[in-house]
Amino acid sequence: MPGAKTRKVLFVASECYPLIKTGGLADVVGALPLVLGDAGCDARILLPGFPSVLKAARKCKAFASIPDLFGGEATLMEARSTTGLKLFILEAPHLFDLDGNPYQGPGGKDRADNHVRFAALSKVAAALSTGTYGDWRADIVHSHDWQTALTALYLKAYGEDRPRTVFTVHNLAFQGLFPKSQLGLLDLPQDSFSEDGLEYWDKISFLKAGVVYSDHVTTVSPSYAAEIQSEDGGMGLGGLLRSRNNKLSGILNGIDTDVWNPATDTAITAPYDRGKLGGKAKSKLALQKHFGLREDRDALLFCVISRLTEQKGLDLLPDIIPHIVGNGCQLVVLGSGDKDIEKAFLEAASDTPEQVGTFIGYNEDLAHLVQAGADAIIIPSRFEPCGLTQLCAMRYGTLPIVSRVGGLADTVVDANEAALQAGAGTGIVLSPASYDSLRAATDRAMTLFSNRKLWKKIQRNAMKLDVSWTNPAARYIDIYDNLIS
Ligand code: ADP
Repeated sequence: MPGAKTRKVLFVASECYPLIKTGGLADVVGALPLVLGDAGCDARILLPGFPSVLKAARKCKAFASIPDLFGGEATLMEARSTTGLKLFILEAPHLFDLDGNPYQGPGGKDRADNHVRFAALSKVAAALSTGTYGDWRADIVHSHDWQTALTALYLKAYGEDRPRTVFTVHNLAFQGLFPKSQLGLLDLPQDSFSEDGLEYWDKISFLKAGVVYSDHVTTVSPSYAAEIQSEDGGMGLGGLLRSRNNKLSGILNGIDTDVWNPATDTAITAPYDRGKLGGKAKSKLALQKHFGLREDRDALLFCVISRLTEQKGLDLLPDIIPHIVGNGCQLVVLGSGDKDIEKAFLEAASDTPEQVGTFIGYNEDLAHLVQAGADAIIIPSRFEPCGLTQLCAMRYGTLPIVSRVGGLADTVVDANEAALQAGAGTGIVLSPASYDSLRAATDRAMTLFSNRKLWKKIQRNAMKLDVSWTNPAARYIDIYDNLIS
């Protein structure tokens, strides 16, 4: 087994904060390698050379060129992020020189060549990790979600001396399915298209390849690890995941507690911490002002920071807005997604502008202001692999109202009487994700909020939680070490 200083880990991913981000995957890939580095790993990340990645990267140095990577020339570069991440960037203009969303074209449709683009990234990851392009060689290759799931399959070609592979499922709903006619384009062994390989109902499934060919599979919470082995939660892969149960682990995500720290956050007006919550009250007024809401510290201010989709249960919320507003409460929505849900929130904001504010789009700084200024965050997901916004919220003393699924169930303790007696309640847990239970949960929030002393107690319980990466990183290191030995 390599000593602590020599354990070399290559992350392969399509997103990484602060270079390119559409969701929680970027947060994980941008934070975990830093903590692994502190714990003695040499952790590096291979990313696609999207324009925003090339722009944000520092100290870029080309070290290898690939004359023909799926139809064009590519260059491998070493670089750093402003946050200190060690990066490899695959610059391949024919594959990645596209503005905007990394997966979708301007009309919101998946790009037609996604399979080729991400197969290329995975193929280069396999070669890079085996020392093909230089001296550096990985002990572990850790790939994330369907985009990089083929890495373990490409590594098969390198024989038993290859690095060991870990594959993390951040969301089983996105499987990377493509017509089998495309197989020839991907430079994969023909025999991989079988029931024991990447074939899924006569299609190519990238995600299935990750599960089948990786040495170990993880997902991002213990509850989600159990859910994806069931018929309902398995989304067609439940049987396969059950059969791999002995190499499947559920490890809760953490958050970057430097990026998400109310005591030092430069995106909020007044810093605060558990001992001194005064700054949170000021942030609430700043948030109300930002959205043109009535500036009122006594109005319970709910928020949403999310993809606006059915997965997140946010189609349920618009019908409850009249109830929220009718009780003198307020709501701020930051997100984008399904057009119908966007429209419903925009309409609510225009109907009751002093009580509802909606921003459709993505805005990192605003997410910080909303977390700091809101009293409660609503996350009524139908399924949720881990969820990060409830973790950020708890660190900011913003009480999560969540459905009892996946990582939400694993991280939020319902503030019922017994939990409060034990000093453990941190939010409100509802089940199932439905109109009735969400409405009842908002009522409970109003009752709790009317007792300000109790509300503060729950805030302090939430802010006390360890939501850092320290413990999860140790679990990943255990998995790496077991594989290497
Ligand atoms: P997902 O399923 O989308 O990955 P997570 O809760 O795991 O959900 O992570 C979402 C991440 O994206 C969080 O860091 C959250 O703050 C951020 N986020 C989501 N929507 C927005 C938005 N509209 N603007 C800014 N940040 C957002």
